Amino acid sequence: MTQSAPIVKCPTCQTPVVWTTESTFRPFCSERCKLIDLGAWASEDHAIPGPELPPSANESSEDWQD
Ligand SMILES: [Zn+2]
Repeated sequence: MTQSAPIVKCPTCQTPVVWTTESTFRPFCSERCKLIDLGAWASEDHAIPGPELPPSANESSEDWQD
């Protein structure tokens, strides 16, 4: 019975990483790459456009409807 483990690319350095329980830092190839990616998130390198509204949006819309 053969079971081939999926291989993913390290999001940080694109190194192929075999997805097994032994790959502690998967999908990263190493702890270093994991920390780099987390740091990138922290510094908003991966900023996600969220549902955040301009502070004045609610006020102005209420005024407008009244
Ligand atoms: Zn890596």
